[in-house]
Amino acid sequence: MPARSVLTVVVPCFNESAGLLDFHERLSAVMSAIGESWDVLYVNDGSRDRTLPLIEALTVRDPHAGLLNLSRNFGKEIALTAGLDHASATGAVIVIDADLQDPPEVIPSLVAQWRQGFEMVYAQRAARSGDSWTKRTTAHGFYLLMQRLGGRVLLPRDTGDFRLIGRRALDALLQLREHHRFMKGLFAWVGFPSVAVSYDRAARTAGESSWNYWSLWNLAIEGITAFTVVPLKIATYAGLLVALFALLFGGQLVIRTMMFGNHVPGYPSLMAVVLFLGGVQLMTLGVIGEYLGRIFNETKHRPLYLVERYSAAGLLERYGAA
Ligand code: UDP
Ligand code: MG
Repeated sequence: MPARSVLTVVVPCFNESAGLLDFHERLSAVMSAIGESWDVLYVNDGSRDRTLPLIEALTVRDPHAGLLNLSRNFGKEIALTAGLDHASATGAVIVIDADLQDPPEVIPSLVAQWRQGFEMVYAQRAARSGDSWTKRTTAHGFYLLMQRLGGRVLLPRDTGDFRLIGRRALDALLQLREHHRFMKGLFAWVGFPSVAVSYDRAARTAGESSWNYWSLWNLAIEGITAFTVVPLKIATYAGLLVALFALLFGGQLVIRTMMFGNHVPGYPSLMAVVLFLGGVQLMTLGVIGEYLGRIFNETKHRPLYLVERYSAAGLLERYGAA
C-alpha cells in the first residue's frame, strides 16, 4: 500500500460503538470494489462509550483504517474539519456518517462522477424515510429560507455532509478556518464544478441521533448568521417602519389635541405602543447580539480542535511489521 492513497473516507464518530463494526464491514466491501487505493479515517469525537477501543482494534486489524482521537467532544462539524485536515488522499475525500444512514453503497456513484471531472459530488436525499413529518417540513422550510437569504451562494437542498470532495476543492475548503462552522454552507461557498447523486436515506440502524429540535434550531441560526447579514437589515428596516408609524401617530395626536383639546384618555394605546416598541428594541438587540457573540468567538483565535492522538492508516504495512 502506498504512503498516500487516492481516496480517503472521513467518518466522524460520537458514541457509535453499536454499529461501527457493521459500518466498517460494509464500507470495506464497497471501497475494495472501486479499484483505487483507499483508507478510512475514523475521527473519535470524545465518545463516552466503547467507540475508541473499537476503532483502535480496527486500526490494528485492518491497514486501511486510521484513527484521529480528539481531546474531547467538539461536535460533528469540528470533528469533520479535523478529519478533513488529516485526510491524506491525493485524489478525493469522502465524508460519511458512521450510523449507516448514508449507505456506503452510494460511494461508487460519487467516485464515478468525480472521475467525470466534478470536484464536489454531493449525495442528495431522494426520500427521508427515517425522518418524521415535522422534521421533513422544518428541514424544507430551512432550505427555502436559506435559498432566499443566501444570495450568490446556493445551498443544495436535501443534502447533508455525505459527499465526495476532490483534492482541489478540499484544499480550498481547508482555508476556511472560522469557528462557527456551518459545513453545508462552507461546502457550497467554495464552489467548483458540483453535481448531485440521489439516494434513499435510511433510518439509523443503531444508537441514537444526537440531534434534537433545539440543536437543529441552533444549527439553522448558525447557518443563517454565518452566511448573511439579512437579519441585521431586517432589524434596521423594521426599526425605520416602526419609527415612521410612531411619527404619524404622534403627529395625529398633536393635531387632535390642538383641535379638540385633551381629554386624558389613551392609557391603552400608550401601553400598547410602549410594549411594542420595547419588544422590537429587545429583539433587535438580540439579533445584534447573535452577530456580536460570533465576532467575539472568532477574535479569540483558538485552535478549532485539539488532537489527543493520530495514527494514520497502514502504519503496520509501511514499517514492515505485517
Ligand atoms: N457526530 C460527531 N460528534 C457529535 C455528534 C455526532 O462526530 O457531537 C457524528 C456521529 O457519530 C455520526 C454523524 O456525526 O457519524 C451524524 O450524527 P447523527 O447521526 O447524530 O446526526 P443525524 O444523522 O441525525 O443528522
Ligand atoms: Mg444519523
